[in-house]
Amino acid sequence: MRVLIVEDEPRLAENLARSMRETAGYAVDIAGDGETGLEMALQNPYDLMVLDLMLPKLEGSGVLRHLRNEHVTTPVLILTAREDKASVVSLLNSGADDYVAKPFDLGEFLARAKALIRRGKGQATPKLQIADLEINTLERRVTRDGKEVTLTPMEYRVLEYLAHRPRAVISKSELLEHLYDFNWEKFSNVIEVYISGLRRKLDNDKPLKLIHTLRGHGYSLRTDEPAEGAE
Ligand code: CA
Repeated sequence: MRVLIVEDEPRLAENLARSMRETAGYAVDIAGDGETGLEMALQNPYDLMVLDLMLPKLEGSGVLRHLRNEHVTTPVLILTAREDKASVVSLLNSGADDYVAKPFDLGEFLARAKALIRRGKGQATPKLQIADLEINTLERRVTRDGKEVTLTPMEYRVLEYLAHRPRAVISKSELLEHLYDFNWEKFSNVIEVYISGLRRKLDNDKPLKLIHTLRGHGYSLRTDEPAEGAE
């Protein structure tokens, strides 16, 4: 998953980014003002935007309004000072998805961020299941047929991304855009490596294969063989 944090206090932005990278394995970009944040959000496919309200150049409310006018549906988590309650209500009414009031507890922030990403993908619960494969996205634990599977952090990120959209065929460039922050081009040949690791660990000794490759199109997590040109 890839997150954009728009926050002009560098220390807060860095703290949030670090905790999201370390505890959730998300790729995180940071913008220090509203104009830059808006530009980045229009150019990159983020899974969540964390948006401060008081920002230089363009305020958070302006960023949100522009985004929704452009039909960008990325979930938005507002960061606000406690005294801003009135503007939070109007922001929630104009397309923000949730908010946390500063100073906030990091654990609560992360829980809200994860819940928004989940709901943005149409998932109500933190557990994803495809046949006998189970992914607990809170603990980042994976089991197949009841047995724990040990994945590297990047293998896990690829699997979780595929599992949020089961059956969809997901291209390598989409994976790269959502799993890395800026400079992802330099990783462009690694996705095959993660997919083959996942296949070896999840599918090798099983009659039912879950990870499928559509040559030239991408990858799909599903219980049946995808037809050419599927979804
Ligand atoms: Ca601020």
